[in-house]
Amino acid sequence: MGKLASLAWKRRFLDETPGDDVKGGRPRQVPGACWSKVDPTPAPNPVLRLWSTEVAHQLGLSESEPEVLGGSRVVEGMVPYAQRYGGHQFGNWAHQLGDGRAITLGEVQTQEHGVLELQLKGAGRTPYSRTADGKAVLRSSIREFLCSEAMHHLGVPTTRALSLTTTGEDVVRDVLYNGNPAPEPGAVVCRVAPSFLRFGTFQIHVADGHHDTLRAVVEHTVQHHFPGHHVADDDGIVAWLTEVSQRTAIMIAHWMRVGFVHGVMNTDNMSIHGITIDYGPYGWLEPFDVDWTPNTTDASRRRYRYGQQPHIGAWNVARLLESMAPLMDDVTRLQPVLDAHMEHAMTLQSDTWGAKLGLGTLEASDEALVNDLLERFTQSEVDMTIFFRLLGELDGPDISGLMPAFYSPGEADMDAWKAWVGRWWERVNGSPDRTTMRSTNPKYVLRNWMAQLAIDAAEERDDYSVCEELHELLKRPYDDQPELEAKWFQPRPDWAKHRVGCSMLSCSS
Ligand code: AMP
Ligand code: MG
Repeated sequence: MGKLASLAWKRRFLDETPGDDVKGGRPRQVPGACWSKVDPTPAPNPVLRLWSTEVAHQLGLSESEPEVLGGSRVVEGMVPYAQRYGGHQFGNWAHQLGDGRAITLGEVQTQEHGVLELQLKGAGRTPYSRTADGKAVLRSSIREFLCSEAMHHLGVPTTRALSLTTTGEDVVRDVLYNGNPAPEPGAVVCRVAPSFLRFGTFQIHVADGHHDTLRAVVEHTVQHHFPGHHVADDDGIVAWLTEVSQRTAIMIAHWMRVGFVHGVMNTDNMSIHGITIDYGPYGWLEPFDVDWTPNTTDASRRRYRYGQQPHIGAWNVARLLESMAPLMDDVTRLQPVLDAHMEHAMTLQSDTWGAKLGLGTLEASDEALVNDLLERFTQSEVDMTIFFRLLGELDGPDISGLMPAFYSPGEADMDAWKAWVGRWWERVNGSPDRTTMRSTNPKYVLRNWMAQLAIDAAEERDDYSVCEELHELLKRPYDDQPELEAKWFQPRPDWAKHRVGCSMLSCSS
């Protein structure tokens, strides 16, 4: 256990892929490059606010060093760079995007967790910042820190967060994009993952027509991150892509299980590891509504709404597969990978329903039970998390135990609900698989208003105790934690219904 400078730093990505000849510099196109070296912009007054002891342990860190984690100092071993990638944004090819406000400090060889990449989000401009400032505000940094840690403890594959440091500098944002820019406190999150390689990392080189570079990045990725795989021939590429697509399907099935809506499933936000990455205008279902999205930027089309996520996952996998065509002798071998992905995603969806409802294996005859429940959810506002958790605690086909999940019980068709619960009770023979239900249906998730309360206290009073309380609570999301139930096992309060940051989130962060 030691300080950042004592870690075993590596620079595999920089050594094995082609990069920018220029260090740092103004935003620009960098054709052919996979990265640009760039130092973080020093923060005037870096103060550590949140810290993940568990992630620190994984890295072998015993000290927090806010100057380094806030971007003010680079220590020996680090060679900071911004990654260049492209992406499809909302269905359209956007060409070069890249790390506009993320700077990788380097890769660290750990004792038990392999090599982990450390990246600062919000540490200033890079060649990929386009017209923006490369900074991040405190509210979005708190949301990323708390949510990525919560997702990990929920069992959802994700990047992790090591630290949140305020910079002592204001950042100007127009939260609703309605011509009202205002200063907000700036912050930097240090996030940690095996790598931050995305689907768009590969796509950009195909768009550039640089197939040698594509091959170099693919070989780097497979060699270090997919041991056991190779890309020497079509068989190898197909097997590797099948693995990537399966991991992607598993990640999205977890999102569906816990009610997480990513909000911006652009291909530049899809990790090659199948881990949740880039926490922006995400949200959690409160009333179960397949059409809900928290992202106001997507409000009219709702491309990335909850119920659409598995389909978008497949669309994104298709874009990744396409981008591998230049490496294949026989490109027709890519289609079966996509077909298998879709089949796998459907199986996972059935398994998830079977587990959430405590049915054991979902039988074909259960389809009506699930569809009728979905129909019920469209008729009444019912809190997803509370409903499934309480369902697992019913000891008879009696709906009174489910009442806390209803937002407007007076308006719900209770006869229809009674009928549904009766059918469910009969199907499980009066003994649902409660153990599976308890480990599938979390009691605590980072509801949008919970994060907002943590943000309010931090912004208004420099008070991080709500952040800390939620950080602790969400380490045990499946445990009852009765002492915290009255506070956090609650449906969305009325004040949060129309509050910016709770029901509506823009990409402004
Ligand atoms: P996102 O939708 O957050 O994944 O971001 C899409 C692209 O915009 C990525 O290339 C980001 O690096 C870039 N970006 C987002 N916010 C900023 C910012 N404040 N400064 C510079 N680039 C940004
Ligand atoms: Mg992104």
